Amino acid sequence: MRGHNTGSEATFSVTFHGVRGSTPCHGEDIIRYGGNTSCVSVLTPSSQPILFDLGTGLRYFGKECLTRDTKFVGTCLLTHSHFDHTQGLPFFAPLLNEETVLTVRGPVQDDGMSLQAVFDKLVSPPLFPVGLSHIPGTISFVDTPNSDFMIDNVHVKARAIPHVGATLGFRIELNGKSIAYLSDHQQPIDGSHGISDGARELVEGADLLIHDSQFTPQEFAVKSTWGHCTAEYAVWVATTHGVKNLALFHHDPSRSDDALDASAAHLAAVGASAGCNVFIASEGLNFRL
Ligand SMILES: [Zn+2]
Ligand SMILES: [Zn+2]
Repeated sequence: MRGHNTGSEATFSVTFHGVRGSTPCHGEDIIRYGGNTSCVSVLTPSSQPILFDLGTGLRYFGKECLTRDTKFVGTCLLTHSHFDHTQGLPFFAPLLNEETVLTVRGPVQDDGMSLQAVFDKLVSPPLFPVGLSHIPGTISFVDTPNSDFMIDNVHVKARAIPHVGATLGFRIELNGKSIAYLSDHQQPIDGSHGISDGARELVEGADLLIHDSQFTPQEFAVKSTWGHCTAEYAVWVATTHGVKNLALFHHDPSRSDDALDASAAHLAAVGASAGCNVFIASEGLNFRL
């Protein structure tokens, strides 16, 4: 496991289990960065585990959990209900233990549909073999508006951000350290640089920003209303808001390892000129702060 270990006293241990956007993928050309969709775990010395999103990477986090305990008690901060952020849920093996309690906090749909109703639809025939009630563990869904709340001693900020459909970004803080997570973030559709008040609140001065980087500028020009942004936009967000470390995330399924590497040096140089460490998130990467 590659890492940026700053010592055993880390406040946050962040592990990327899925870094891909849109759909899981596989192949020799993406073997280094990985093909599972959005899922990041955050462990702290003093709180329950926190997850960002429930994409297909969740299955691998679940396998890791089983090596410690078959029971899991933790909270997922879910950005939105698109497939690539939810598909891993029924494959999270600790849910087979009836003592497992997974709390999922995410947005209410624009038409008012609750998070529970969304998942009841998603995990039920004919879309899935069984319904959620067949899962032995407890999953509790909490509709979460723009708000600030605590997960044990971790302070959480949830804010609506531009994407397609109701979508949240999050910021978590503990011991003066902060992580912002904006996995799917619509850049202004004219390709300019600008940011909503909610997104700005999340990213300002963050120690680590995990941010959408789905498109190249050429792709954005033809997919400007698809809810995403360019890697260049992510670097702009980070460098103009005092972010210390930026993880480029939610890679397009068509983006090969070589293509990611090809853009990495330039993006890192732009970041470095503003004092921001820019790197490309890969499956298995651990980052401590
Ligand atoms: Zn997505
Ligand atoms: Zn999405």
